[in-house]
Amino acid sequence: MSITRPIHASIPSVDRILKLAAVAALIAEYGRDAVVSAVRDDVDRLRAALGQRDGATASDATPESIATRVGASLRAAATGSLQAVFNLTGTVLHTNLGRAVLPQEAIEAIAHAAGNAVNLEFDLAEGRRGDRDRHVEALLTQITGAEAAAVVNNNAAAVLLALNTLAQKKEVIVSRGELIEIGGEFRMPEIMKRAGCRLVEVGTTNRTHLKDYAEAIGPRTALIMKVHPSNYQILGFVKSVDETSLAKLARERGLPLISDLGAGALLDLRRWGLPYEHTPAEMIVAGVDLVTFSGDKLVGGPQAGMIVGRRALIERINRNALKRAVRVDKLRIAGLAAVLRLYANPDRLAKSLPLLRHLCRSPADIEAQARRVLPAMAQALAGRATVTVEGGESQIGSGSLPADRLPSFALAIRPMVARREASARVEALSRAFRALPVPVIGRVHDGALYFDLRCLDDEERLLQQLVHLAGHVKRH
Ligand SMILES: *Cc1c(COP(=O)(O)O)cnc(C)c1O
Repeated sequence: MSITRPIHASIPSVDRILKLAAVAALIAEYGRDAVVSAVRDDVDRLRAALGQRDGATASDATPESIATRVGASLRAAATGSLQAVFNLTGTVLHTNLGRAVLPQEAIEAIAHAAGNAVNLEFDLAEGRRGDRDRHVEALLTQITGAEAAAVVNNNAAAVLLALNTLAQKKEVIVSRGELIEIGGEFRMPEIMKRAGCRLVEVGTTNRTHLKDYAEAIGPRTALIMKVHPSNYQILGFVKSVDETSLAKLARERGLPLISDLGAGALLDLRRWGLPYEHTPAEMIVAGVDLVTFSGDKLVGGPQAGMIVGRRALIERINRNALKRAVRVDKLRIAGLAAVLRLYANPDRLAKSLPLLRHLCRSPADIEAQARRVLPAMAQALAGRATVTVEGGESQIGSGSLPADRLPSFALAIRPMVARREASARVEALSRAFRALPVPVIGRVHDGALYFDLRCLDDEERLLQQLVHLAGHVKRH
């Protein structure tokens, strides 16, 4: 515990701090107003810490240490809070880490659209207003076999818009086994309410039959909906109705069938030895009228929500005023179109699409990388923690294929302390890695910090910055 003595009297005046040479340099770089305000903030915080146990010490109140903190906070503000990190969590599509990393083609297309006026909603041949979705519609219909397509802000918006367009003030039939929560407040019953629909639940949590749907159809029914139970799986005594049977029922009763696929792998992933996931194309073949899915899950593109299916329904969706509120900008259209164009050559996709490249990495390749990185990591943590290479499992993430794991390898870092202290020291280590110039995000589990290397592209950059660790992790 630090010695708490009154430091009020020893806090230097703002004027005195501003006269320091180091602070003059900050003024030259960031401007006088920003520096004065940062100094005032720091001094205010020092005063507030006054008298609090472990709050501040006299050494925190020297003009030099104030200048150092002010410099750090100005630098942090100038770089902004959004920064690149190493995703070594073992979750490839990590929602909190921005999901799919985009391919070079998309990055260039986005930069190009950003720096130029573009024919976003302008028909060059006719010289009049055009439609922004047409830049991706042909690609989407080609890949999925659907008649038409629309694109919106994300899949949550796609579901909301489709339901609101086709079923406002009416009933939507959904199986009880599919009333999912995706996280971040995306709960199917809530979305239904927001879309202005009445949810009619059929079947039970584990079993729903075709006759359950059939019996629920009434004069107020607008549509039947299937929801991909993305992030969980029910095992055991289970029955659900496949899209082909449901589509037949829907057609007989004159209702549309819509399917919210969520992750929406555009091609059958088994082609790359990955687990099977429904594709939008299969849904269309099965007779589903509209399919919704995300742009930044298994498609591997930017955040977007795709709606593909029958032209008449897509046209109704496009006429809904809500569409305007959830449309995508030119940057995302440019990025998404570039990603979709890569699908024209599936043989190259495992190289050209970072998502697929990460998912397809062989355990042997990841293990070899782990063994390359191990010595530098062990040296950086020498005397503080042991580092070993261990087999483990990555997951795809973002509610895709929850039960399927990909064999992988990780660096396991264990602090050299007694067991009862281990958890605090692992947290400290984890914090130190997060404080690196390019923060390294791992996973803490059972007294160890794990770095799954499946998504490690820039090995050099990771190794270079390990020298900064020495300053962060205190030895005792
Ligand atoms: C992820 C998911 C959503 C939400 O998609 P976002 O693109 O994150 O808005 C909706 N439905 C299902 C089934 C999902 O898996």
